[in-house]
Amino acid sequence: MSILVVGSVAFDTIETPSGKAERCVGGAATHFALAASYFTDVRVIAVVGEDFTAEHEAVLTRRGIDTRGIEHTKGKSFFWSGSYLKNLNEAQTLNTELNVFQSFSPKIPAEYEDSEYLFLANIDPVLQADVRAKMPRVKLVCGDTMNYWINDHAENLARMLKGLDGLLINDTEAKLLAHEGNMVLAAEKILAMGPKSLVVKHGEYGASAFFSERSFPGNHGRAIRMFRAPALPLAEVVDPTGAGDSFAGGFFGYIASQKELTPAVFKKAMFYGGVMGSFAVERFGIERLQQLDPGEIEERFALFCELSHLE
Ligand code: AMP
Repeated sequence: MSILVVGSVAFDTIETPSGKAERCVGGAATHFALAASYFTDVRVIAVVGEDFTAEHEAVLTRRGIDTRGIEHTKGKSFFWSGSYLKNLNEAQTLNTELNVFQSFSPKIPAEYEDSEYLFLANIDPVLQADVRAKMPRVKLVCGDTMNYWINDHAENLARMLKGLDGLLINDTEAKLLAHEGNMVLAAEKILAMGPKSLVVKHGEYGASAFFSERSFPGNHGRAIRMFRAPALPLAEVVDPTGAGDSFAGGFFGYIASQKELTPAVFKKAMFYGGVMGSFAVERFGIERLQQLDPGEIEERFALFCELSHLE
């Protein structure tokens, strides 16, 4: 099974209480692709500038990720800088430079057309909707967004949300999107905007899912059900950047590795999301996600089960 992901491939400068990392390879699609690559085949659609070299791209190809959909063009790559000095659970954006993403028109390579799963990682909702429209036959589409797009691109975002099976978003963004401070009411409002299921990430406190029968192929019931997955309490969080995208990569990667999407698979995927998020924050940027082995992932999954199991 293959997941096609579209989203930012970027350079990030990050400061946290543990230190500072300058211009490291980052971006929502990068974190997502690396995390998902431990579960299934991953293909990437993005654009980068002349500053993005073969060595940078090897971060993805070394993990077997298909980068034929990454367009190289004149100009500078997307650049983001953020600080977690005030709050380790939420980035304070210091600078966002869209650069080559400003005039990007995504093209789907012929080799990508048979992708069964599509993930619309964080980027301009116009680009997300464009890729969605170009992939009408996919089995399942999930997506993400952030305050940057919720605040100033609401109409475009509303169009993108209509094409989603699942939205993954963090809790402050969910409340912002719904104009509602209560999480349950916010979830009801967001599900009415289009997505068939909603996964709300709570940073160090885990993640909640809001779904109904209609979240699963062939079912129609609308009564909302909830599920809560834990996060792993860690003694040190070095850098939270990409935790959300890594969660999404583990979540969707696990789903793509299974025969069909059932409530049990959905719930297990929430745990694998937490597992990949917990690895991501142990080092700066994508460092930890590049060098995991399947045994470590299973060991940590067992730890997540242990954390929340009642005899
Ligand atoms: P996360 O910490 O999982 O929410 O995502 C962090 C990643 O999102 C970083 O690697 C950034 O490059 C990327 N990012 C930050 N702002 C934006 C934006 N406005 N659009 C797309 N990607 C972004």
